[in-house]
Amino acid sequence: MSKVIDGKHVSTIIRERIKKETADILANTGKKPMLAVIIVGEDPASLSYVRSKKKFAAEVGFDSETIQLPDTATEADILAHIDTFNQNPAVSGILVQLPLPKHIDEQKVISTIAVEKDVDGFHPEQVGGLSIGLNTLEPCTPAGIIELLHHYDIPVSGKHAVVIGRSNIVGKPIASLLLRLNATVTITHSRTAHLADITRQADILIVAIGKPHFLTADMVKTGAVVIDVGINRTEGGKLVGDVDDEGVFEKAAYLTPVPGGVGPMTIAMLLANTLKAFKRQSFA
Ligand code: NAD
Repeated sequence: MSKVIDGKHVSTIIRERIKKETADILANTGKKPMLAVIIVGEDPASLSYVRSKKKFAAEVGFDSETIQLPDTATEADILAHIDTFNQNPAVSGILVQLPLPKHIDEQKVISTIAVEKDVDGFHPEQVGGLSIGLNTLEPCTPAGIIELLHHYDIPVSGKHAVVIGRSNIVGKPIASLLLRLNATVTITHSRTAHLADITRQADILIVAIGKPHFLTADMVKTGAVVIDVGINRTEGGKLVGDVDDEGVFEKAAYLTPVPGGVGPMTIAMLLANTLKAFKRQSFA
């Protein structure tokens, strides 16, 4: 039977820490971090993520500004807004909510954000820095997963970590972070042969594919730590993860719930990155 990894609780602790540090800095210097967000189009999930980011930024004492553009916005429009934020010394962090409409070159947009303000950690320079072990702004979801493992004192060094999914925002960066912590890492994906034979070897299993209840109990070793990154909405409107949680719960040592597991950590780490970026720009 698993212990539940309570991301909601851990994220609250992190946000409280950020709130206190922000208040102390404001009292001492009169300055505070500012998060600038650009959203293009009306995707309901993206709008809801942006609302949460704004709400939590305000709650920890940051300023924030959101630019909302229609989905007919041109690449030049978006780049011009990024440039304005890049030049504005009051802006500590810039986030462009993904995905962008098909006619926009996502990589070009990400690469235009000033590296020191890239609080999502997606800029190619930061991706490179992460892979060679530099102190970068780490992508928020993978950084949140590592915080959860630390909080629950889950050993990583020497363990076999299996990652399902090789996206740039979760799969690849979590593999880099686990490798840095001396795990033996296997990355699997949609073309992986004999997937269950590999997942059954995992001490730590990270599932980030976007397929409801994909990981079933027979794919999990007894006593494994299972981190469910997936966010999927059923036809009935319920949020479910990539893990068949009822079955896996009986077998794993630890399991993250959906909702309330990795999701809240992503926003907490975005705020942590914004504070880190602010301190580097203001005091380094
Ligand atoms: P993605 O959608 O970009 O890519 C999916 C990955 O899954 C690919 O690498 C693909 O190879 C792999 N995959 C697909 N089918 C597979 C299969 N049958 N077997 C093995 N691998 C398979 O991935 P993403 O953007 O990392 O998103 C994955 C999931 O995580 C989604 O549900 C997304 O909503 C969720 N997500 C959650 C958070 C959070 O904060 N909790 C953050 C980011 C993404």
